[in-house]
Amino acid sequence: MKVLVIGTGAREHALCRSLSQDPAVTELHCAPGNAGIARVAALHPVDQLDGAAVTALARELGADLVVVGPEAPLVAGVAEPLRAAGIPVFGPGREAAQLEGSKAFAKDVMAAAGVPTARSYVCTTPEEAAAALDAFGAPYVVKDDGLAAGKGVVVTEDRAAALAHAAGCERVVIEEYLDGPEVSLFAITDGTTVLPLVPAQDFKRALDGDQGPNTGGMGAYSPLPWAPEGLVAEVLESVLQPTVDELRHRGTPFSGLLYAGLALTSRGTRVIEFNARFGDPETQVVLARLRTPLAGVLLAAADGTLGGLEPLRWSEEAAVTVVMASEGYPASPRTGDPIEGLDAAEADGTAFVLHAGTKTGPAGEVLTAGGRVLSVTAVGADLAEARTKAYAGVAEISFKGAQHRTDIAAAAAAAGRQLP
Ligand code: AMP
Repeated sequence: MKVLVIGTGAREHALCRSLSQDPAVTELHCAPGNAGIARVAALHPVDQLDGAAVTALARELGADLVVVGPEAPLVAGVAEPLRAAGIPVFGPGREAAQLEGSKAFAKDVMAAAGVPTARSYVCTTPEEAAAALDAFGAPYVVKDDGLAAGKGVVVTEDRAAALAHAAGCERVVIEEYLDGPEVSLFAITDGTTVLPLVPAQDFKRALDGDQGPNTGGMGAYSPLPWAPEGLVAEVLESVLQPTVDELRHRGTPFSGLLYAGLALTSRGTRVIEFNARFGDPETQVVLARLRTPLAGVLLAAADGTLGGLEPLRWSEEAAVTVVMASEGYPASPRTGDPIEGLDAAEADGTAFVLHAGTKTGPAGEVLTAGGRVLSVTAVGADLAEARTKAYAGVAEISFKGAQHRTDIAAAAAAAGRQLP
């Protein structure tokens, strides 16, 4: 099978790594990719938002499957021309991708499908926003309606800050605050059959102790020893399947990866958000535990045959990933610095490095090229071992101004089956 992956991040590196280990994959390509992906796939400098260019590349390569990693090309409708050309594509079309592209659309789908989520108002004026904030009270949750790379959400006790964020967006969703731990649950779907993956937890805030601004994600781990028994089955029945059914009934079936961001509140499980693609950094740990070869699963989702697949097989091991970000991330990341220690981090095989914002410099050196630079991932017998290995890898890597959280999976590793 010839596979083309679209995207540039650590998620795409994780996808490419798993695909490169699948014996069914004979050729692996990525557009545009990064310096790490270049080690396992042939890179092609294509604009990932340009559906015609991506389709032309897929044709030229004779791709049997195109896997679209990030949300932006999905929301831009890159899947449509590929499907029109008869090329199997993993990822929803433009309309179904609105589940991520518009928070208001997602709320509408959830209401129609009876999926539990935070009560909310869609607001377009400061007066509406003020009324909605007062209706729910603090802490205030204000979400930019459109795509914002995980950075469009403000959760604050400060009413003025909440209003200011609302004023800076064209349309916002203001919703009730959900307490309780968060879980990311991914499901692969062909629009009818829904196959949940293993749950993971990510760390959205920039700094230790969940302080600082929201980011795209600073680390993740799986499994969640503290998660209630039966969580995956419950979410499949109350969230994932009804959502997939609702979109199919609307005539815009969702195929690809449905990501449910959940809060386990005192009043039950609630959806915080949907995404229309693999989450980054959770993908790094979820795929590290997947034993079933990946390409066949993604192809079955793309061609509508997921119902015929064997159940997915998982490692009992734990996985932890720690993101290293550049100085100034998320506000104004600094780029162009050489990265040292990449080989040392992987030397004894205990950890592996997944690149995000990296590029190859003129002398073949690896340079920082984005906010989240890379994620160091490791598996171990339990979370404590996996995190020790991941942090040992992090300790080997350096670049100017590098920052990372030191508490990824710490509470869960220490607490075992207790809620961290
Ligand atoms: P989102 O982009 O919708 O996932 O939001 C980013 C982060 O903001 C989430 O992972 C939560 O930590 C937080 N958040 C979003 N919505 C809520 C909510 N209704 N209540 C509490 N925290 C929230």
